[in-house]
Amino acid sequence: MSRLILKAAAYAAHQHRDQRRKDAEASPYINHPLTVANILSEAGVENPIVLAAAILHDTIEDTTTTADDLRRLFGEEVAGIVLEVTDDKSLPKARRKVLQIEHAPHLSEGAALVKFADKIANLTDILEAPPAWPAERKAAYFAWAASVVDFLPVQPLALRARFDALVARASVPTAASSATGPRPNSSVCPSNFGYPESGVGSAPGPS
Ligand code: ZN
Repeated sequence: MSRLILKAAAYAAHQHRDQRRKDAEASPYINHPLTVANILSEAGVENPIVLAAAILHDTIEDTTTTADDLRRLFGEEVAGIVLEVTDDKSLPKARRKVLQIEHAPHLSEGAALVKFADKIANLTDILEAPPAWPAERKAAYFAWAASVVDFLPVQPLALRARFDALVARASVPTAASSATGPRPNSSVCPSNFGYPESGVGSAPGPS
């Protein structure tokens, strides 16, 4: 059902047409939802409902799109997944971030996959097309993203490995070591998926 996916891409491109990402180049916003869907596809996700929802995942939160629009155009299942990953923007940002952690274990499989790939896309952007954030803010974002992802009810190996690789990359060049380059033997264990030392509650403290 590639028709559903292409329809989602065309619709999301239209709805996000005036928006930019927060990276240094202010990339077109649509790059982000397409990347999220592509991350899922590369991880072996083939369900067109999930892939279409990935492409549409920010439309309710960030555009004029309503849940009824998505139901009418893409059906109940796609709309339901998008609603599950949509923050309530009437709440303060800090509260929304806590709620993402609290809601993570209760997401449906489709919504959990979209959430997982969304965090991978965002961490990749922070590493490769960094916004003008101080190092502490980036570190705090990584720690928060790990908290959300760790609580997701599905942990596909391909997504988990990709996420952990990003966290490992981010943790190698610290402020102290960046002048001398990455250490040859980082203490980050690639098979350590549980974050016993860097998970919930141990985010880098505010400076
Ligand atoms: Zn997103």
